[in-house]
Amino acid sequence: MAVATREYGMWIDGEFAQAGEVRDLREPASGELLARAAMASKEDVDRAVSAARAALSGAWAKTPATERSRLLHALADAIVANRRELAELEARNVGKAISSVKLEVNQAVDNFRFYASAIGSIAGRSNPIGGSLLFYSLKEPVGVCAQIVPWNYPLTMATWKLAPALAAGCAVVLKPDPATPLTALRLGELAAEVGIPQGVLNVVPGDGPTTGSYLVSHPDVDKVAFTGSTRTGAEIMRLAASPLKRITLELGGKSPNIVFADANLDDAIPSSVWSIYYAAGQSCEARSRVLVESSVYDDFVSRFADAAGRLKVGDPLDAETQVGSLISENHRQKVHRFVEQGRDEGAEVVLGGEPGNGDGAFYPPTVLAKVENRMTVAQEEIFGPVVTVIPFADEKEAIAIANDSKYGLYATVWTGGAARGHRLASGIKAGSIGINMPYTAFPGIPFGGYKQSGFGRELGIETLELYLETKSVLVSTGARAYNPFAL
Ligand code: NAD
Repeated sequence: MAVATREYGMWIDGEFAQAGEVRDLREPASGELLARAAMASKEDVDRAVSAARAALSGAWAKTPATERSRLLHALADAIVANRRELAELEARNVGKAISSVKLEVNQAVDNFRFYASAIGSIAGRSNPIGGSLLFYSLKEPVGVCAQIVPWNYPLTMATWKLAPALAAGCAVVLKPDPATPLTALRLGELAAEVGIPQGVLNVVPGDGPTTGSYLVSHPDVDKVAFTGSTRTGAEIMRLAASPLKRITLELGGKSPNIVFADANLDDAIPSSVWSIYYAAGQSCEARSRVLVESSVYDDFVSRFADAAGRLKVGDPLDAETQVGSLISENHRQKVHRFVEQGRDEGAEVVLGGEPGNGDGAFYPPTVLAKVENRMTVAQEEIFGPVVTVIPFADEKEAIAIANDSKYGLYATVWTGGAARGHRLASGIKAGSIGINMPYTAFPGIPFGGYKQSGFGRELGIETLELYLETKSVLVSTGARAYNPFAL
């Protein structure tokens, strides 16, 4: 279905609300006007937090887990029913290939279904400690959660955060990136349509340093869950310190993709191409450092560049497109500056390396070879369709180079040796390791970072714990009352 240009209010307390500031949102792939969206002021954030607080002490608090499960399944059904609209909205707003976005919408559905089912596993425990003391624990929602998400996967990132929070019984104020709020706003509307009570889910688009920092510092917010850059994550940690809030941070990455000579290159090469150019490289877990064993390095680089050169770059709405545009012209310039810096530092540009002509923020798949891990292009997150290919001599050096990064989000290993795969999985400091498998995010499998890639896990059953408090209840079951002072 065609998404008509429309004006979006903020989503507060179960309805669209107007704001003092309304911005034009343009499609990054064409520059055309897509929508107009309201931006939240501090007063709007106050209203959203109050609505969430009121929901927590009202209908939502009385909603049993079985009913929350039903509501999350109903929201998943509503996403399925509106999947074409959501996919088109996201593809046009972000500039991403619709073929990829359709998979993201499917994952959003699966994610709500996973947590809708997992609600049943939220349970305290009991333990009769000693003869006259019974202990049991209650699991209670943490409270009002501020959730802040970036522009690269607006719907996916929102659902990664919303599903466990709502399953746990929390109420949420979600702040999308001001450039990409549309699918999150539509999700707010769908949540109301399926019967999630007003105030439980609020969406307040706005700039990070103003709206975002005000939300994070808000005294009536109990928890902050953030996805974005490591630099902003550090600022969030500082802002969330007074008054103290629980926080989880999903941050940047510079993930290695390690290819040994004993790997099946016919499998490793197409998967490695996908692992960097999916979402035009604008993924936290993009495998942007490809480490290749020296004996197959030249062969790998030439076959990889050949495959990358055959990717279809273009109109995000064309079903054949594999790589869409970048998020903005500014971002394209930033990506290109990294490529120039790589050239200056001695990297060889084997493919791409020049911004596209014409409308839209397109940048071609780019391969930088002869890269050393100390170079800026191998250390900093470029967040674009640029891969750095680095040779290594042996397993020990592969692990050393993989770990020579401030980040630790993901790593992929390609090898014919099963034991070697497990040795790498143990030696690499990252939140997840894929062995002979490029995919990264599955509902049910914990996802998150080591080191400067953040802390806390999303997508897993353990994520629920991050949205719950554990209350210990201690009961005397003895025949005589405790009287420690013998009074
Ligand atoms: P960013 O940190 O600039 O912005 C992310 C979000 O934070 C946006 O909504 C922004 O408005 C908000 N924000 C910015 N400053 C803020 C402040 N002072 N207070 C509160 N909110 C603030 O990141 P970005 O450039 O939009 O996103 C790309 C980054 O996100 C990359 O580093 C990428 O690796 C990371 N990312 C990580 C994951 C993950 O799961 N680990 C997933 C996707 C993206």
